[in-house]
Amino acid sequence: MISFQSHRSLKSLRKVLIKNDLHHIAIVGSGPSAFYTAKYLLDNNRKKDIKIDIYEKLPTPFGLVRSGVAPDHQDVKVVTNTFAELFQKHQNSLRYFGNIHVLGENENLDSISSMNLLQLDHLRSVYSGVILACGASSDVTLKVPGNNGIGILSARSFVNWYNGHPDFVNIGNKIDLSKVENVVIIGQGNVAIDCARILGKSYSELLETDIATHALDQLSKSNIKKISILGRRGHVQSSFTIKEIRELSKLNNSNFSILKSEIDEGLTDASKTEIENNRPKTRIVELLNTIASKPNNNSNDKRNIELRYLVNPKEFILDDSDHVKKIIVERTKLEGPSGKQIAIGTGITEEMPCQLVLVSVGYKSTPILNAPFDYDKNIVPNLAGRVYNPKTNNENETGLYVVGWMKRGPTGIIGTNITDAKETTASILDDIEMNKLDEINENDDPSARIMLPTESTISWKDYENIDKAEIKRGQKHNPIKIRDKILDINELVNIAKI
Ligand code: NAP
Repeated sequence: MISFQSHRSLKSLRKVLIKNDLHHIAIVGSGPSAFYTAKYLLDNNRKKDIKIDIYEKLPTPFGLVRSGVAPDHQDVKVVTNTFAELFQKHQNSLRYFGNIHVLGENENLDSISSMNLLQLDHLRSVYSGVILACGASSDVTLKVPGNNGIGILSARSFVNWYNGHPDFVNIGNKIDLSKVENVVIIGQGNVAIDCARILGKSYSELLETDIATHALDQLSKSNIKKISILGRRGHVQSSFTIKEIRELSKLNNSNFSILKSEIDEGLTDASKTEIENNRPKTRIVELLNTIASKPNNNSNDKRNIELRYLVNPKEFILDDSDHVKKIIVERTKLEGPSGKQIAIGTGITEEMPCQLVLVSVGYKSTPILNAPFDYDKNIVPNLAGRVYNPKTNNENETGLYVVGWMKRGPTGIIGTNITDAKETTASILDDIEMNKLDEINENDDPSARIMLPTESTISWKDYENIDKAEIKRGQKHNPIKIRDKILDINELVNIAKI
């Protein structure tokens, strides 16, 4: 662990230093919410008295854009160009410290390979302010008997695996797609649809992406015949967006179907009210109706992807070697008022064979050591991004802020982070205006006071070496491959330092 040297407190420093003071802010995390916050803070800082250091656990930046956004959604991933430009535009005010792990609560130190460990308290004592932008690095779990069976994975791990996140490389040991014919995906949000699309695409459709090579190899051996995406409620309550469903209906390698009977069952009076005056929902329902009305052209030549409604997982049945072999679902019916309908079990069950199950029922954030955390909502308690502490009568934690999924929960698209980051930025700029944040002399580098950088800390220049190497590897693999991600932390560090 990085040793921390005690220094005069910032407050006493402030008394001594009158001139050339500035506000030095640390951001923990380097996903889209972190970069948008850095952008708005620096762009809106008219006095030019803010400097920002971004701390990232991995050597590589961009969080969910690199490891969450599907590899075939390059139109979304291009936002990384905007983030990278910030380092050109704000050369003297923005720095990147990759491969630095800020300790989480209950984290087992033995399981952390990085030598570059920091605690939030250290950052708070040397920076004017700290912004938590750590996203959601855990899963909502499904409490269903048999859920520990082999072949049952969280969609989050599957997504991180196909996106080449170093911590998820070993997931590959649990996946042998040559032995899988039936996949069940539980949940109907965009993550579920991303997983179905990646599993449904052909090798050639996936080649022109930045998918991890290990995933591309596995997917090329796939023997998958059927992918069932299960919703416990009806089609009107589907959580996905229309673009994702359109894509699913246009794959070269897969048919897409919806049972008309399940659409009819889900159209309760309350569901009709939910559609009324809701343009996006109306358009999705129209598209789902169109797909359900088409003759079912399931075939053995292609994979068959189906959306199933009003089915709730009851139990996973495992074989003698604890591998999942089927799921029992209970048919449900909708009850309750418009906007609040819930799935009630009918007692009628159905069995579905499956050798791979992806549980896609939501992400959740995990607490950072010594930061307040709301365990009911799985977020850091905040008002407009200012963190407050329920343990101390909801007092503000001066100088501590939060942004992104850790602030609002795991909802929204990448662009949702724009308004979210603007809100947290406004809170910080107001606090600076009101002299609530400590100032630091411009010659006094807070990172040096926490003994950084070390040999294995990744700077932005270092990351640019990784970026170039990955693009080159992709082209070597195949001229149309966008990049081949490097999966090993030590290799990433070595390549960064060439
Ligand atoms: P989500 O949109 O919240 O979907 C979660 C799904 O899980 C819902 O269908 C929900 O059904 C279901 N579910 C929850 N608990 C369940 C349970 N106990 N049993 C059965 N089903 C259960 O979450 P997500 O798909 O993880 O996505 C997270 C966020 O990232 C979303 O805002 C999403 O739009 C965004 N995202 C966007 C993109 C994109 O733009 N392409 C890609 C990926 C993710 P109920 O409604 O019945 O609770």
